[in-house]
Amino acid sequence: MTAMALRVKEPATVGAVTTTSDFLVIGSGIAGLTFALDAAANGTVTIITKRNRDEANTRYAQGGVAAVFAPDDSPEAHVKDTLIAGGGLCHEVVAEICAREGPDRVRELIERGARFDHENGRLHLGREGGHSARRVVHTADATGAEIERALVETAAAHPNIRMVEHQTAIDLIVLSRFGGPDQCAGAYVLDENGGAVETFLARATVLASGGAGKVYLYTTNPDVATGDGVAMAYRAGAEISNMEFYQFHPTCLYHPQAPRFLITEALRGEGAVLRLTDGTAFMGNHDPRKELAPRDVVARAIDFEMKRTGSEHVLLDITHKPAAFIREHFPTIHAECLRFGIDITRQPIPVVPAAHFMCGGISTDLHGRSSLPGLFAIGECACTGLHGANRLASNSLLEGMVFGHRAALRLAGQIAELRQSPFPEVPAWQVGNAVPSDEEVVVAHNWDELRRTMWNYVGIVRSNARLRRASRRIALLQEEIREYYWKHLVTRDLLELRNIATVAELIVECAAARHESRGLHTTIDYPETSERFAADTVIKRGVLPHLRGR
Ligand SMILES: Cc1cc2nc3c(=O)[nH]c(=O)nc-3n(C[C@H](O)[C@H](O)[C@H](O)COP(=O)(O)OP(=O)(O)OC[C@H]3O[C@@H](n4cnc5c(N)ncnc54)[C@H](O)[C@@H]3O)c2cc1C
Repeated sequence: MTAMALRVKEPATVGAVTTTSDFLVIGSGIAGLTFALDAAANGTVTIITKRNRDEANTRYAQGGVAAVFAPDDSPEAHVKDTLIAGGGLCHEVVAEICAREGPDRVRELIERGARFDHENGRLHLGREGGHSARRVVHTADATGAEIERALVETAAAHPNIRMVEHQTAIDLIVLSRFGGPDQCAGAYVLDENGGAVETFLARATVLASGGAGKVYLYTTNPDVATGDGVAMAYRAGAEISNMEFYQFHPTCLYHPQAPRFLITEALRGEGAVLRLTDGTAFMGNHDPRKELAPRDVVARAIDFEMKRTGSEHVLLDITHKPAAFIREHFPTIHAECLRFGIDITRQPIPVVPAAHFMCGGISTDLHGRSSLPGLFAIGECACTGLHGANRLASNSLLEGMVFGHRAALRLAGQIAELRQSPFPEVPAWQVGNAVPSDEEVVVAHNWDELRRTMWNYVGIVRSNARLRRASRRIALLQEEIREYYWKHLVTRDLLELRNIATVAELIVECAAARHESRGLHTTIDYPETSERFAADTVIKRGVLPHLRGR
């Protein structure tokens, strides 16, 4: 959903169609497509996706995929860098799995058609903040678009994969709601092509629905990132973890017409300097690693300097590099900034921090299994333990591939047994007395208010008072949304609003339970890191957030 412009949509009607497949995948980014391609060797796969098949966070990734290829690098060094960035909360075993299995997943991506930059016959490796070696496999500064292209094309050509666009999953089907076991058996899905709500049944349901950047007013994420997977899993009774750790990208282009264009940290990797609007470099006052400090440190430093000077942005300056180098290495950023009248070979770029990556999510084990039987979660919507309190740059595409692959492997060993049970009988979606939405403006207003509340009170630096304020406002908005939801036929905008409200509630509840500052969670009331809180925050429907050791 876009902030102000709401489209008029056809209302949903009672669903009659039931689709069955071995695996239902919700989302067509790197995680969902990797899973689908691996699982299709053993069964039928249906992928549903909210908009066009390639519209996903994945497509906008610029920097690349972190994987150990350089002769002077090692999996141990990658693990160490991941753990340092993660502020003491990473699950070391998960970091080891990703560092060890990453290079094979990159090779598979290449076999699936992804074309990455090479130099002297070897993969060219970029350097990013927090990495102790050159480790980032990339395609200039548009890596995600190339990965998405290759995976979508390969999946579209696979005979066992059916990809259906413009389908929004509304809720997971949990059999215990109909007198069966506590087991996920698929999802109810709004078909935007015809407006009906259809039933998708599967032997395993895989959430690969990405992040939730739209919960904040300013974000680098595209419109699909409304936390639907986390909200659906929470409503279905699955465990959710570490939602307080939302990563803000320090450098998003500051321009009224370009609200979410990210300036990759690869620019800082190549020596770009952060300056105040008067030209003074300031990162040296905040961290000895200066511009190469981890993202949270850089985002907080910018936030601090903007508040101190009253400026609406700072500057990122790469003009010391030759113009030809900048144009060759950063063609997308160069062209995009030029569209807004900024020639980055000659002028510094105005930048601000923006919500970027959800480190928490649906709690999973080492094979992508959630706490709800039959439900898997992979990619950004999952919390595997890799990122801990802060994600190391370029580790998320890696995580999506590694866990997409591991979940498919796990299910390959189970599919024969799963096929022995017939698909369950479940009731079709019921609309009750719901009528077509008559006041979409209510949805638009609540959408704006919610995102502004999150931005103002639950942003980079928090406090108890701000969290309480946010909590009260979110509760009120949720009451209105609930009432609207039950009275009206569902639309995608309404579903997304309901989901960002749930995600907002989870972020606030987890943040309020963590009485310390760690990684991406900074609060003025508890400025120190405390050993007592060196654990994951776990929350479940009907159960207050609590800490669980690793
Ligand atoms: C601008 C930008 C730059 C980035 N740069 C990097 C980088 O350089 N390196 C890196 O590692 N990471 C980067 N990231 C993060 C990375 O891109 C994401 O974490 C990753 O792509 C997530 O992949 P995913 O498959 O989990 O989700 P996504 O790629 O976001 O895919 C989610 C899919 O789920 C679908 N969906 C969502 N809800 C529903 C629903 N209810 N019903 C049906 N479908 C649904 C969406 O339409 C979409 O197809 C960047 C992110 C952004 C926004």
